[in-house]
Amino acid sequence: MGGMDPISPLEQALHAARALVLADLMAGRVAEADVVSLVEQSVVERRWWVEQWPEGAAYVAGLVAQDVQDALLERHGRWPLCPVCGTGDPHALDVQPELGPDPHWVCSEAGVKVAAVGSLGEAIGGAGAS
Ligand SMILES: [Zn+2]
Repeated sequence: MGGMDPISPLEQALHAARALVLADLMAGRVAEADVVSLVEQSVVERRWWVEQWPEGAAYVAGLVAQDVQDALLERHGRWPLCPVCGTGDPHALDVQPELGPDPHWVCSEAGVKVAAVGSLGEAIGGAGAS
């Protein structure tokens, strides 16, 4: 045949998930080489998962975000730190819904939606920029 294969919705979902989580990592300035490899590793595992259950394609971004969050907790510490609460112990944001479409970072202490996964830079962008 030789033609270009159209990109499947599944590949698009994985590609988008990777880009969204990388954008959030860059927003927090943690997109180092070893961290990027954590994202790649999660995408590989979630590719297998979504091939078994294609209806879950919309859930992949939230799942990759949580995979990377878990992997970072072991290696680097909490991520992403809550930019909303100015006082108290530093704490990480959670992904909500844990298994659903349109995932957001939320602060469960303040009970607020902070940003969509992939848009964390907009929530914390003002703080670090000079
Ligand atoms: Zn908070």
